[in-house]
Amino acid sequence: MAAERLVVIGGDAAGMSAASQARRRRDATDLEIVAFERGHFTSYAACGIPYWVGGLVEDEEQLISRDPETFRNKHQVDVRLRHEVTMIDLERREVVARDLENGGTEVRERFDQLVYAAGAVPVTPDWARTDADGVFGVQTLDDGAALLAWLDGDPRPQRAVVVGGGYIGVEMAEAMIQRGLSVSLVERSPEPMSTVDPDMGALVRKALCGLGLDVRSGVSVTGLETRDGRVSAVVTDDGTLPADVVVLGLGVRPNTALAAEAGLPIGPTGGIRVDLRMRVVDVPGVWAAGDCVESVHRVSGQPVYVPLGTHANKQGRVAGINIGGGYATFAGVVGTAVTRVCELEVGRTGLREDEAAAAGFEFVSVRVESTNRAGYYPGARPMTVKLIAERRSGRLLGAQIVGWSEAAKRIDVLAVALWNRMTVDEMAGLDLGYAPPYAPVWDPVLVAARKAVDAIR
Ligand SMILES: Cc1cc2nc3c(=O)[nH]c(=O)nc-3n(C[C@H](O)[C@H](O)[C@H](O)COP(=O)(O)OP(=O)(O)OC[C@H]3O[C@@H](n4cnc5c(N)ncnc54)[C@H](O)[C@@H]3O)c2cc1C
Repeated sequence: MAAERLVVIGGDAAGMSAASQARRRRDATDLEIVAFERGHFTSYAACGIPYWVGGLVEDEEQLISRDPETFRNKHQVDVRLRHEVTMIDLERREVVARDLENGGTEVRERFDQLVYAAGAVPVTPDWARTDADGVFGVQTLDDGAALLAWLDGDPRPQRAVVVGGGYIGVEMAEAMIQRGLSVSLVERSPEPMSTVDPDMGALVRKALCGLGLDVRSGVSVTGLETRDGRVSAVVTDDGTLPADVVVLGLGVRPNTALAAEAGLPIGPTGGIRVDLRMRVVDVPGVWAAGDCVESVHRVSGQPVYVPLGTHANKQGRVAGINIGGGYATFAGVVGTAVTRVCELEVGRTGLREDEAAAAGFEFVSVRVESTNRAGYYPGARPMTVKLIAERRSGRLLGAQIVGWSEAAKRIDVLAVALWNRMTVDEMAGLDLGYAPPYAPVWDPVLVAARKAVDAIR
């Protein structure tokens, strides 16, 4: 019997996790796998770009977890690099791809199973669409390489403006500081890190200013100035900031153009609709995973778009196991995320106050100031924990942490509590580890839970 054929669109986290898992369960005589990737790399860690640009990671090779040769030789996956899929024909069960290295020659590939894992598209406002040199996104390794070449170029850039105060923006601001540039960070919202509540964002802003960053929050970019084909300034509604390099971190949206054209269902968040097993809803034999899909939020029960590598890897794995004949489900997200900028750490999970209100919850919020270690232990530094809990029931709905070294990963304890629908009452008695180098005798998480217990009553 002829082998079944799996075609994968997108050769990074979600797509190649799916390919690897399917291959583990079915050999090449049973399942042929063809993966189309329009870029130069497979299975690369975009998450590492800020640390590569900042000099913590020496070269891009370190960011590639499995290269195309490994996929071809060890896993019998026919990886077609520099091939962009331009059409999905569901009726004929074919994809059409353009070979970007050979004048756009078209190839057609038949599929029995299709994994759509085309990731996300960076948000690029009109003012950022410029021919001038010196303006960079940081979505791909190619973007990182281009930015590095510019930073090492002649004349050497001295002043950077990072536009967007989300986690990618602040990580890139850190990278620029590490390279010795003076850095302005421009954010349209009143506070940076809008994934946390504004009161916690204000703590982030103050800390960033203390790190020598020029933070301009509540400020919108309206245009760029250029000189001799190079960017020279960023124009905002609050003045003009000189810039030799501009880095964009304005967020992403699901890359669904091809999917929508083919008639795959798109949900209210703009992501592709999938079921628990990562099957595209109502389209047999078609799967989707990663930054192009929407997920279910386990606290609100609503569809959400949370484009993170942690989900892309898990979702791709789930799709691959199912294609391979196994059984796996993706249980949804609770919105956990951590980031760091020059030792300032931010963690969040669950719902922010505005999200909890939008989901219809009545809730209380509490905040505690504590330290990451026993107050007397060398290196103890401040840490703020905020909890949001449902009124009366005391069910944890969300948590946020802003602090210094070793603060942010405490969010994982809170994410587990949230995942398991724990109440703040139950959390207040948790048996968490204590020793002076790691925590005060009352861990900040426990102190916050105790305060929340008082507040819900
Ligand atoms: C700077 C940066 C830092 C990040 N840091 C973190 C972090 O700390 N933690 C975290 O969890 N996440 C982080 N992320 C997010 C994470 O990288 C993404 O969520 C993850 O890469 C998504 O994987 P994916 O496979 O769904 O999509 P992608 O990684 O975007 O891969 C999609 C692939 O599809 C290819 N493609 C698209 N269209 C086509 C087509 N038509 N034909 C062929 N190929 C196509 C693209 O070239 C791309 O390689 C970061 C992202 C960036 C940019």
